[in-house]
Amino acid sequence: MDFKPKYLIKMVLPLFVLLVSALVYLGYSDYRSIRDSAYSQARANLNVAKKYLDQNYIAATNQLFLLSEILKGADNIPAFLDAANYVVKNQNKFLEIGLLVDSDYYGTDGFRLSGIDERVKRRPWYSHDQKTGDIFLSDFYHSNSTKKWCIAMVAKLALPGKNNVRIMIELDAGAMSDDLSGLKTMKNGYVYAVEPNTKRVVIHPDKTRLGVDSVSIDPELLTTIKAGEGSGNIPSYEYDNQYKFSVYDTNNRFNWVLLSGTNNSEIAANALRIGVVGGALLTVVFIILLGGYLHTRVHQVGGQLIEAQEFDELHEQLSALLNDTMGSSRVYLFVMNTREGVLEETYHNLRAKVPADLLCRIAGCQQLGRFCKPEQDDIVRLIAPSEPCIRLPLVNCARRHDTQHTASQLIGVLYICQPGLAYPFFAKMIANYTLSALNQLLLTQHIRSEDQMTGLKNKNSLRHHMDQKLMDSTAGYFLAMIDVDDFKSINDTYGHLIGDEVILNIASQMKHSFQPQAVLCRYGGEEFAVLMEAPDQETALKTLDDFRAKVEGSRITVHEGRSFAITVSIGFAPLRQGMESTISSADRALYQAKSQGKNQVLSADMCLIGTETEAVTA
Ligand code: GH3
Ligand code: MG
Ligand code: MG
Repeated sequence: MDFKPKYLIKMVLPLFVLLVSALVYLGYSDYRSIRDSAYSQARANLNVAKKYLDQNYIAATNQLFLLSEILKGADNIPAFLDAANYVVKNQNKFLEIGLLVDSDYYGTDGFRLSGIDERVKRRPWYSHDQKTGDIFLSDFYHSNSTKKWCIAMVAKLALPGKNNVRIMIELDAGAMSDDLSGLKTMKNGYVYAVEPNTKRVVIHPDKTRLGVDSVSIDPELLTTIKAGEGSGNIPSYEYDNQYKFSVYDTNNRFNWVLLSGTNNSEIAANALRIGVVGGALLTVVFIILLGGYLHTRVHQVGGQLIEAQEFDELHEQLSALLNDTMGSSRVYLFVMNTREGVLEETYHNLRAKVPADLLCRIAGCQQLGRFCKPEQDDIVRLIAPSEPCIRLPLVNCARRHDTQHTASQLIGVLYICQPGLAYPFFAKMIANYTLSALNQLLLTQHIRSEDQMTGLKNKNSLRHHMDQKLMDSTAGYFLAMIDVDDFKSINDTYGHLIGDEVILNIASQMKHSFQPQAVLCRYGGEEFAVLMEAPDQETALKTLDDFRAKVEGSRITVHEGRSFAITVSIGFAPLRQGMESTISSADRALYQAKSQGKNQVLSADMCLIGTETEAVTA
């Protein structure tokens, strides 16, 4: 099946939309699965932390039980203290163990106080309501003796003869925080705990935050928790200018709210990392589309170059195009003047010889552009002495199929100054468009300036050339008007076809009689004009009279071997300021030549001798 480009083009947009949607979907599902795994990781961490805290709780109650057994059995406080000291020394989570017997207090750090009933009763671990046999769990507090944050577990027991006997174990929140600090959610998330009564942070990997009010637990959440919602998610809360999520669980023996989570941005960052591949893919697609768009634009604007009617207009369009694509607005379009063999740049009014190496290059029909430094190319030295330029030859190539021979013709050279990085992408395309536009312009100009029948220049072109000469220097230039004698009778006698042949014959003789630089023109009908260079009037007269004699000596053949002779009359004038006055001077000289008997050459200045009313400078 023939898969045509138009079908591909039709598929570009839907495919692009499909790709973007797939990437968006992929990105979103990545985000969701990473978020889900972050939540389950956080919840797994909570379970481990819960078990760890419960183990510590059970360990502490076991110790309380054993220590109370020692105390009951032997009624021996020193034995109790020995055992308690042993426990505190070997278990770093127990900060201190204390024993209250009525008004005496014994601590594991050797601390001993008597008669301190009231002071002890103000300690956070002392509960007035505690019943014998119960375990009391204190609020979180900062221990005066150890200078650490802790909670206390207290057992009240009945001893014969004693009213108030309590054993207290202080658990070190910092040590427990250390043990839990390894439980990470993703990279930066951690486990921490909050005491619901006081809203204080009781477990945290950063120990400076112990005892600080928690920001993650707001009154609303507390109400939810108190209503029996033992676990759940806090999807988003702000801390330290970052949005975080946490999962929480209160189902532990300390009745703390255990939390674990991390920054929401971490989830997004992870999803983004996976999304980078998709993003890269999208960028590639985008670059391809951008390249396509740029090519389209260059083709679009390049195509408009062909509409230029004048060289200056082409130059301006070209600079705009180059500025848009390569960022270079300095451009020089040299056009080959084949008559004089030089390159001309009308916009900046420059003329230069064709660089020698360029002629070698285009011989094989190579159109490759190249960077030229000022020392490599005289034109670059002229237009951009301090910067590199790209030189793009504009060459018409004709390949003959029978001989396989290629003929190349240089019609212009494009110089682009400071071409920028985009040069390799666009230079060739721009050169091709410029070549087409230049060919078109030259063709139009040719058609506009040439007489179709004879191939000589037409009246417009003559005026254009005279204009140019008048702008430069008129010295040494002459304008001659040539008119075929008795042409009407030739037409009448031999017919218009023979008349045409006479016109073609005169044109052909003109082409062979004057110097190559002379502008040869058919002024209209059987009238011709020549704009020629001569050192003086005499030389001009001689050249023109030679031509007149040549015409006189030639014969026009009619059918059946008959032929006839033709003659021309010529009037000429030196080119002076004022185009109209030059033409009318030459015309008057022609008129006088006619009236003096035709087949002769007369100079306008020579006519003046006879007619005093004429003015040389008119
Ligand atoms: P004179 O010697 O004074 O110049 O006389 P003439 O007959 O040459 O001049 P005139 O102006 O009376 O005649 C010019 C004629 O040339 C008139 C016109 O029909 C004819 N003519 C103009 N253009 C063409 C052309 O392209 N082909 C032909 N065959 N005749 C043309
Ligand atoms: Mg005439
Ligand atoms: Mg005539």
